[in-house]
Amino acid sequence: MKIHEYQAKKILREFGVTTPQGIACFSVEEAMDAAGKLGGGVWVVKAQIHAGGRGKGGGVKVAKSLDEVKQFAGKILGMTLITHQTGSQGQVVRRLLIEQGAEIRQEFYVGLVVDRGSRRVCLMASSEGGMDIEEVAARTPEKIHKIFIDPITGLSAYDADDIVRKAGFPESVAEEARTVLQGLYRTFDSTDASLVEINPLILTADDHVVALDAKMNFDDNALFRHPEIAALRDLDEEDPAEIEASQYDLSYISLDGNIGCLVNGAGLAMATMDIIKLYGGNPANFLDVGGGATTEKVTEAFKLMLRNPKLQAILVNIFGGIMKCDVIAEGVVAAAREVKLSVPLVVRLEGTNVDLGKRILAESGLPIISAGNMADAAQKAVKAAGPAKASTTEGGI
Ligand code: ADP
Ligand code: MG
Repeated sequence: MKIHEYQAKKILREFGVTTPQGIACFSVEEAMDAAGKLGGGVWVVKAQIHAGGRGKGGGVKVAKSLDEVKQFAGKILGMTLITHQTGSQGQVVRRLLIEQGAEIRQEFYVGLVVDRGSRRVCLMASSEGGMDIEEVAARTPEKIHKIFIDPITGLSAYDADDIVRKAGFPESVAEEARTVLQGLYRTFDSTDASLVEINPLILTADDHVVALDAKMNFDDNALFRHPEIAALRDLDEEDPAEIEASQYDLSYISLDGNIGCLVNGAGLAMATMDIIKLYGGNPANFLDVGGGATTEKVTEAFKLMLRNPKLQAILVNIFGGIMKCDVIAEGVVAAAREVKLSVPLVVRLEGTNVDLGKRILAESGLPIISAGNMADAAQKAVKAAGPAKASTTEGGI
């Protein structure tokens, strides 16, 4: 789960990490009030969306008067902000953060992620803050310093000092930078985060280390331990199809292609998408209906896929292990009838009661294309879908 910058900054402050003072707002009037309350002569008006790169996209503006705060707030609220992380369809801005302007002397980058290879939290720091860290990683990887943190000891002062030195924090703030890094690690660890990224972490003109931006993602599987974090979820920032899918206990992720996939089991779903690609097609979605797919669930899955204007074919790939193929076939037939299927449907069944399942499909009278194995199914789906048609609605659903 992702949260907004202002929410992440509030959490960071609880762990002793300094941020500029700021107030979240939902209207221009609130933004004006907030600027008045914060005082000072420089404010930063920041779009709150679950994506980075807002500055480049026009979503972060420095205001030098209350009039400018008003002007920028009016412009940014409601705009569709397009950044390299939103995709071409962009994201509508519904919230703002009005923040005191900081005097920046130097910008650093700090990030924490789980490193699967070492099974530890990896802390990265770099002097190249404020810019695209992906580009720094690609061009000058030696400028990103890493440390893999022992979960028993946490981030020791020794290791923190080492990375502070390597990232080039001046000696005058070395101790403060160490405290900040340790605070960031404690935040990451205590909240079951999967990502904490501060870009930029700045050195201010008066020699302090301040988190000017904050991005935090959390491990969904641990959210039950943090109801106060789960409460920060902003459904406006999530794909409506994915939210609806989660209500039916379906694992659904929208993708860019034109072949809808309905599969049981995440592994088989991944393999199905792979094989579609192998035969030159493009999946429109990842969809795992799980082990206990009922007719109702399968029907909802069909409805979700069919709402995508890019959809040109559906491939159902089911392995009947716990679930029997005849039950699935009944579900597919009932769902196809209810939703009045408008695209070709390819079905591949394997496993318990497969012959009965195939007979149910064949006798249904529906124009279902039956496939013998995965390769056959993928080839038939790619052929049935044909070349992707040009779509006017970017992003699909
Ligand atoms: P994003 O990464 O989404 O572009 P940031 O929060 O990093 O958004 O803001 C972009 C840039 O705007 C920062 O690199 C910094 O230079 C400037 N900035 C952001 N917040 C402030 C602030 N409170 N005071 C001064 N400058 C800021
Ligand atoms: Mg940033």
